[in-house]
Amino acid sequence: MNYTYFSPRQIVFGWGRRSELGTLAANLGRRAFVISGSRTLERNGVIDQLVKSLDDAGLDVLGFPVDSREPEVRDVNQLVNAIRTLDPTTSDVVIAIGGGSTIDLAKAAAALATNRQGESVEEFLEGVGRGLQITVPPLDLVAIPSTAGTGAEATKNAVISSNNDPADANIRPYKKSLRSDLMIPRLVIVDPELTVSLPPSTTAYTGMDAITQLIESYISRKAAPIPKALCRQGLQLAIPALAAAVANGSLREPREAMAHAALLSGMALANSGLGFAHGVAAALGVTCQVPHGLACALLLPVALRVNREVSRTPLAELESLFNPASIGDPLAADQFIDRIDRLCREVQIPARLRDVGVRQDQLPILVQGSRGNSMSCNPRDVSDEELQERLERLW
Ligand SMILES: [Zn+2]
Repeated sequence: MNYTYFSPRQIVFGWGRRSELGTLAANLGRRAFVISGSRTLERNGVIDQLVKSLDDAGLDVLGFPVDSREPEVRDVNQLVNAIRTLDPTTSDVVIAIGGGSTIDLAKAAAALATNRQGESVEEFLEGVGRGLQITVPPLDLVAIPSTAGTGAEATKNAVISSNNDPADANIRPYKKSLRSDLMIPRLVIVDPELTVSLPPSTTAYTGMDAITQLIESYISRKAAPIPKALCRQGLQLAIPALAAAVANGSLREPREAMAHAALLSGMALANSGLGFAHGVAAALGVTCQVPHGLACALLLPVALRVNREVSRTPLAELESLFNPASIGDPLAADQFIDRIDRLCREVQIPARLRDVGVRQDQLPILVQGSRGNSMSCNPRDVSDEELQERLERLW
């Protein structure tokens, strides 16, 4: 066995435990930059509660409300410039409260606050920039997810899109990562109570994102022992809980199960990578503006069929978690794929690309846009011709 494993230094998980933010953050710094992306949590007073907790613990608080959309280059640069003018030091701590987009934006800002060798985040992005690296430790980051899905609270990358301006023909659209082992949040506070206000569709899409991440990490080319154990536990919790969380968002147990599974999915993907569904989901986001979780959910069944033959053993292992009688059954992997199909129908995931606004003439662009870091971890190579054909059938 031979592996390296990264994870957040401290994880605090539990219903209502956001109340401990001030005490925990006081161990990390004296000044808090609070980056919040949830208007719902602002309206229902949660952000004020969290700021008060920081105040009470003696921290100076500076608020940065941000858009909840998936972050673009200009969003990162604007936030970084605002933080750099405050002369950040190691006694500052960045606190991110929101979904994966907000946490990614905060991760990028915390990293670029201390890495001043570039003017724009674009210069650091994989595959598009001039290869600048994060070499100085970022400001300490506390991540408090308000959704249960992306696992961004436990990952070492931030997904950043090109500026989206249809009027500017010079923009080459992309969605790429700013990535460094140094970017994993220092402290994660997962309070599942924050997710009770999510509407059913967001619960379904983000939950399917977590499930996709757990499965793709499990069958990835880079799958490793610790993440595999986390994936098994995450799937055992999430697959039975998702429909209940969608149907009745205020139930505590399904919300806890989904929040924990999402955290585990982030810890898994940060170490094992992803695959086909995430590769194509990035292209769907860039070309057709399909939200990340919805894109992953729609692509998961086809991703499983693409990998069915090479991943029979791990997929059968996953089926055995739910159906011990399947052990030794040559069709166990197929039964797992059927299980995922049923779950997608139950939580009303659209079945076709056209259902989410994709035009048939966009399929070749999707093929070209799918070749990122995620696709390189898929358990087998998928040619452009095969990918085109799979997308045609899914359209
Ligand atoms: Zn994802």
